[in-house]
Amino acid sequence: MSVVDPVANLQALIRCPSVTPAEGGALTALETMLKPLGFTVERMVASEQGMPDIENLYARIGTEGPHLMFAGHTDVVPPGDEASWSHPPFAAEIADGELFGRGAVDMKGGIACFIAAVARHIEQHGAPEGSISFLITGDEEGPAVNGTDKLLKWAAEKGERWDACLVGEPTNPDVLGDMIKIGRRGSVSGKVVAYGVQGHAAYPHLADNAVRGALALASSLMDPPFDAGTPEFPASNLEVTTIDVGNPATNVVPAKATFAFNIRFNDTWTADTVKVEILRRLDAAAATNPLRPGRDATRYEITWAERPSHVFLTRNDALIGSVAASVKEITGKEPKLSTTGGTSDARFIKDYCPVVEFGLVGQTMHMVDERVAVADLETLTRIYGDFITRWFADAVIR
Ligand SMILES: [Zn+2]
Repeated sequence: MSVVDPVANLQALIRCPSVTPAEGGALTALETMLKPLGFTVERMVASEQGMPDIENLYARIGTEGPHLMFAGHTDVVPPGDEASWSHPPFAAEIADGELFGRGAVDMKGGIACFIAAVARHIEQHGAPEGSISFLITGDEEGPAVNGTDKLLKWAAEKGERWDACLVGEPTNPDVLGDMIKIGRRGSVSGKVVAYGVQGHAAYPHLADNAVRGALALASSLMDPPFDAGTPEFPASNLEVTTIDVGNPATNVVPAKATFAFNIRFNDTWTADTVKVEILRRLDAAAATNPLRPGRDATRYEITWAERPSHVFLTRNDALIGSVAASVKEITGKEPKLSTTGGTSDARFIKDYCPVVEFGLVGQTMHMVDERVAVADLETLTRIYGDFITRWFADAVIR
């Protein structure tokens, strides 16, 4: 197999059923591709009590700076009902110019293209003027506890330092060249329990309906807006995701009502300041309790979900400019610089070096019949190749 061909690389990776937390042979396949190119490959197993061990991979070529990292994941989400697929999810079949399989775009495809780009670069120019590394986790689609976060710490402890990172997640909404992600919103979730006094629905003065308390608390989080957005980010947004009382009786006033929420916040906030603001709103609503006039403050408890996702914004013009210039060079398109979408592992990488994300078209990710246009694989490989040349030329001058 020639690793300069992204299609062959991707087929080999898709044929490894690496549904989180299974390695599925995917990292071994990567190792087989990278070693002949001159990469030193290390496998790192991360553990956490109560969670399955996860295999990760770190590979580097070169010993000097500048040092460019490519980051991604080989784990994939489950295929769902395999019978619903037009082509089996781990067969990597090609039909009508499209390659089918779980992970085709999210994100074995990005990895396959970057390997092909590096292989072509080495073939044409020899080893890079500096270092290139692959930081690949098997735990991105899962809890992401035994993945990129620990792999970065492990590598940094060994003295690894990076100057820039490209994450190969699918970033384009419709067409290759649409969008580069230069940041991501943060995410915090929590659960609030409001308390009251149980009683007869016909004797409300003897009871205290917890639903009234919960509704006032929930509304205070939804309005007014947390901010109006920034030039780079949309407005922060909080959604109440469930309200639960579980009361089967029509004539009983409930003593307890629970709701949960999730906020996606921009860089006006940090995970800590957004929590402070949420508590301020809850305390104010509990005290004024507009739905419970004349009553004492609503009693409530809040539980925060573990591990909030931190917001980040990359302001490294050299890195953003290189990716954008390569996209323009190969596709003729001016990519939008965006901070939309969910969180990604770039939230961990941003603590070590500037990071941007650019990969395939994301339309079919996590869906039945996940697939990628074979032509896109060649185009992305050429974009990555142009970026590698461009970034090193620029970094060596600097
Ligand atoms: Zn992904």
